[in-house]
Amino acid sequence: MPYIGRFAPTPSGPLHLGSLVAALGSWLDARAAGGRWLLRIEDIDPPRCPPQAAATIQRQLAAFGLTWDGEICFQHRRDDAYQAALERLAATGRVYPCGCSRKEWQHLGHYPGWCREHPRHPQRPQAWRLRTDLGPNPVVWQDRLFGTQRLDPTTQGDVVVKRKDGLWAYQLAVVVDDAAQGITDVVRGFDLLDNTPWQRQLQQALDYPEPRYLHLPLIRGEDGQKLSKQNLAPPLPLDDATVRPLLHRALALLDQRPPAELHRAPVTTQLAWAVDAWSPRALTPHAYRDLT
Ligand code: GLU
Repeated sequence: MPYIGRFAPTPSGPLHLGSLVAALGSWLDARAAGGRWLLRIEDIDPPRCPPQAAATIQRQLAAFGLTWDGEICFQHRRDDAYQAALERLAATGRVYPCGCSRKEWQHLGHYPGWCREHPRHPQRPQAWRLRTDLGPNPVVWQDRLFGTQRLDPTTQGDVVVKRKDGLWAYQLAVVVDDAAQGITDVVRGFDLLDNTPWQRQLQQALDYPEPRYLHLPLIRGEDGQKLSKQNLAPPLPLDDATVRPLLHRALALLDQRPPAELHRAPVTTQLAWAVDAWSPRALTPHAYRDLT
């Protein structure tokens, strides 16, 4: 079986230990399968992405030995592909324009699809939303760690695929690019597990193949919160002396039990061991993994 994996960070800041664990899990899974591993910079939301962050991410991945194949895909250059996909979806009535404001529906918890048949506020700027009611419902798929998943996306609402301000939304961009890059295996953090049903519906509506999915536990810090930029998780270091033990720690957080003597070994040595030993089965199917 051919294998093409990817790491798809949003460059809203530098990578931290939580993102390292996701990147490392995806990289190991690809390399252990003899596959390719692509890098995609998900910079569709320029106001959230400081100009230097994408370059910092590349330096951080390189420092940890996580080499990628081929050209980097930058989503800010992919307008035409997203527009073509939106037009296909609109032609079959899978997406619709909607000018409702969050204030009007937020008491309901999710957007209930008021504009599905007719826009309620045609005079306002319009977002585009996915018709989750057109199925499949529920969406059923296999996660390699969490097993069979069954989720009805109507309970999460008609997600935005293009924003009112004209920016593309993550759900559409990720599906279009996973298909364009021929991604066979999506390995990413557990926080995106419940986005998968929308993505499966979009893939089916666009006749794209279904990738395999492996969602990885999120790393939870001492405050009980997942490590994130919002929580001020420290950026990954670039100097080799600090990188080596941190890579060892990331392997341990993926439950790979790296031998203690590899603690200060060069990243290429640690990674060679880890590719050989890679066993996603060693992971426990919990949403969170506490820092140890
Ligand atoms: N860009 C997303 C993030 O940084 C990840 C997208 C994905 O892996 O599907 O969280």
